[in-house]
Amino acid sequence: MDAKILVALLAIVFLKFFWVVPIWTGGDLKNKISWHFWTRGSADKNNVLVEQLKQYGVIKTKKVAEVMETIDRGLFVPDGNSAYIDSPMPIGYNATISAPHMHGTCLELLKEHLQPGMHALDVGSGTGYLTACFAMMVGPQGRAVGVEHIPELVASSIENVKRSAASSLLNGGSLSLHVADGRQGWPEQAPYDAIHVGAAAEKIPQPLLDQLKPGGRMVIPVGSFFQDLQVVDKKLDGSISIRSETSVRYVPLTSRAAQLQGF
Ligand code: SAH
Repeated sequence: MDAKILVALLAIVFLKFFWVVPIWTGGDLKNKISWHFWTRGSADKNNVLVEQLKQYGVIKTKKVAEVMETIDRGLFVPDGNSAYIDSPMPIGYNATISAPHMHGTCLELLKEHLQPGMHALDVGSGTGYLTACFAMMVGPQGRAVGVEHIPELVASSIENVKRSAASSLLNGGSLSLHVADGRQGWPEQAPYDAIHVGAAAEKIPQPLLDQLKPGGRMVIPVGSFFQDLQVVDKKLDGSISIRSETSVRYVPLTSRAAQLQGF
């Protein structure tokens, strides 16, 4: 083999295992993720990711850990290994799959409203990852509905779910993914115990408030450049309380045309 090619190959191997990994994943992850991580199978890598989120205090409960272990994020992200990095990833059409810590945060915020038999709505379902997690939590007697306005993303999300542990729920009809404008919600399965919105609204859409069950909770990023993840609780008397959980950065909840033009 040409010496130059050999040197280049050695350089790639060196960078991949000893240098690039710690930079991509943040300094203090360096000691926690061994380079053996990169040679593991996908289920193992997913478990390592969940373990990290537990150590960082993002995942607080067994229930959320179990669902994130069961639904392998790698099946929902176009490019293999990058699925297990705590970062959002482009999925085409000016959209991203949210970072694992945001998925974990939203599952923790919604877990009491994702009990077996409950109804959940995922607006801007994108890859279908979170809809699949919701479906696992509410089970075959519950309903998990994803609404996404890019038809190609809905088609690929259905393929993603079919490869995942949630496939039987899709076949059984308790998990469904639809092409629609999520600002209108999905009245067919309303009211919902849990509503998650995966794109930032300038203002909380009224149809989503209307479709939230008394006692239910919605988690929604609100704002344009500066955004807050808002937790909206509908009390049993129908009154609404809203608090801000954290600052976030999501793609906008908008029209399909605006999104495809780059907003
Ligand atoms: N939560 C998903 C995707 C997040 S990106 C995941 O993690 O995979 C936000 C998604 O919202 C994008 O897929 C985008 O196409 C979608 N979206 C934006 N505006 C929308 C609208 N009005 N109706 C439905 N989906 C919308």
